[in-house]
Amino acid sequence: MSSATRPLELPAPARAARSLAFRLTAWYAAVFAASLVALAVLAVPITAEVLRSQDTVVLESRLERHAAVLSVGLPQYQRAVEQSAALGEREPAVRVRDGEGRTVYQHGDVGSARVVTARVAGAFRVELGYASGALGAVGRRLQPVAVALLLAGLLLSAVGGLALARKGLAPVRALAAAARAVSSSGDLSRRVPERGTGDELDELSVLFNRMLERNQALVGGMRAALDDVAHDLRTPLTRLRGTAEVALRGDDPPAAREALALCIEESDRVLAMLRTLMDISEAETGLMRLDLRPVPLGRLAREVKDLYELVAEQAGVALEVEGGGDGDREVTAQVDAVRLRQALANLVDNAVKYTPRGGRVSLEVAREGADAVLRVRDTGAGIPPEARPRIFDRLYRAEPSRSKPGLGLGLSLVRAIVAAHGGRVDVESSVGRGSVFTVRLPG
Ligand code: ADP
Repeated sequence: MSSATRPLELPAPARAARSLAFRLTAWYAAVFAASLVALAVLAVPITAEVLRSQDTVVLESRLERHAAVLSVGLPQYQRAVEQSAALGEREPAVRVRDGEGRTVYQHGDVGSARVVTARVAGAFRVELGYASGALGAVGRRLQPVAVALLLAGLLLSAVGGLALARKGLAPVRALAAAARAVSSSGDLSRRVPERGTGDELDELSVLFNRMLERNQALVGGMRAALDDVAHDLRTPLTRLRGTAEVALRGDDPPAAREALALCIEESDRVLAMLRTLMDISEAETGLMRLDLRPVPLGRLAREVKDLYELVAEQAGVALEVEGGGDGDREVTAQVDAVRLRQALANLVDNAVKYTPRGGRVSLEVAREGADAVLRVRDTGAGIPPEARPRIFDRLYRAEPSRSKPGLGLGLSLVRAIVAAHGGRVDVESSVGRGSVFTVRLPG
């Protein structure tokens, strides 16, 4: 039966019979019963052996006296044997043979005697024996006790085993209940109680919760990204459609060419937005694969400066790198060079974009305590205090900057990449004087 068609809910009796607790109990009781039977099987020959050796000791001790009385004479011996038997003592069976081995006298149940000792006394040979009935009697007395003990043991093992198995498997039932609730309602916020005992089942609960947490973050991230995309793609796509429609209707080839160029521009914008959104959700959900290596941050800053030199020059903004160190004092961090360069480039892009002609943008590299720090400082317009908490949100653009080109995704990507590296990014800003973005990475 495939897992897709397999019913999760079985009828109650079938469920009880299939339950792990039931099967554990059945196994436990079976093993317990088998050990009791094995114990009984071993106990019978051992007890018989003990009784036999006891009988042998008793017979040996009596043989001496029997031989002594027999050496007085056979008639005296016969009398003595019969008298002591009449007293009701537990006398052994007796057989006396003559020199040729013929039985000349016997007393008691000689036929069933199993434990036998013998000694020569004058012209005779006396044999003493006990029937093996001793063990039989003990065995008969013990049998009902053994059966009662076996049954009581079985009952106790079944009840105790079931209680222990149910208690031991309680976390598994909680896990199954949570999994059932998640699969039937899709509610990923459900959690299994963690008992903190540190045993295997507790570890399973912790891992299960961690898996749910991760799935919740992934699904949440996907939903948010999807909402953003749906919301923000509508405008450029409508524009794209409108431009194409107008070009199609008119009969003016140069205007149609211009419209096509606009369409390409618009679709590039859409593609860039989609790529960035996907990068952000990959980084935020921990799916971004980072190629972490020790990277000298000074070199990284100089590469970004080279990349933006021309743009800054055209914008009339001075662009500089400060610090970073050379040789031994070089500030390095364990980072993915490509991703961190992308984040730094976004910060520099913003700084140049939002700084008026004649301003200055500096890239600083420093070590502060255990952290490696990258700072992008500008003398630009600054960010209004009410906008500051929102600038790292996806697709947010503060009021004064709407006139500049941009998707409102740059800072979200910066924050996601830096967080994926285990670091953080902060902003300080003063309207009219400039802003400072600080990226802190664990050394
Ligand atoms: P975009 O620059 O594409 O609009 P970002 O996510 O990079 O999107 O930035 C979000 C908003 O934060 C910008 O729209 C702008 O209002 C503000 N901002 C970011 N960097 C600066 C800066 N250096 N100076 C002033 N405002 C900034």
